[in-house]
Amino acid sequence: MTELLYQTDSYLRSFDATGTALDEENHGIALDRTAFYPGGGGQPADIGYLQVRDTNFSIIRARKIGDQVFHYLEGGLPLPSLGEKVRGQLDWERRYQLMRTHTAMHILCGVIFRDYGASVTGGDMDPLQGRMDFEFETMHKDLVDKIEQAVNQEITEARPVRVVILPRDVAFQIPDLIRTKINLLPEGILQVRTVEIVGLDLQADGGTHVANTSEVGHIRVVDYKSKGKINKRIYVSIE
Ligand SMILES: [Zn+2]
Repeated sequence: MTELLYQTDSYLRSFDATGTALDEENHGIALDRTAFYPGGGGQPADIGYLQVRDTNFSIIRARKIGDQVFHYLEGGLPLPSLGEKVRGQLDWERRYQLMRTHTAMHILCGVIFRDYGASVTGGDMDPLQGRMDFEFETMHKDLVDKIEQAVNQEITEARPVRVVILPRDVAFQIPDLIRTKINLLPEGILQVRTVEIVGLDLQADGGTHVANTSEVGHIRVVDYKSKGKINKRIYVSIE
């Protein structure tokens, strides 16, 4: 089992760990603990480096398989041995951009639900840009500027972003979480990690976010598309 260090400290950039399993075919190694986000919920996996003795290996992606996180290394060099001490280091610039972007997406969700009652159905992001799908029948182009202003207002408000891990039965009684379809979580999950933008948005979420909305920067709503009568896709970029 891999301890997911990013779940409790998303600002952790490097960490010491030990190899626990190998995936020889794909040139990957599982670690007993990691700060690498393995991808999911629209947020891409981290990349970075693994230092083994004096050699730096590039980690080109990470992936969660069962309860282990595998780190896939650039080919050519031999994999570290199991039990060997290693040091992981994130590509921090890229990860921090993803934290800002992910938080921007939650601000967008919070604002659109608060102002228009529209629920999010999905989303995807890259560093400094993202898109989200909403059940938002009344979306039209005159709203673009209004939405952009409202999300940037929430950044100016400098709202704290709080991460809490709750027992499943406690989380299942919180109305804001019920509306985000928390009931779709697999039965085996006994703890629910929640991410709250205080006063704006609360979601069950495994991703990495900044600690305050003021860190996000300026959000631009760059486009939107109709994906049918009700479903609308909104594109944002972060400056
Ligand atoms: Zn999220």
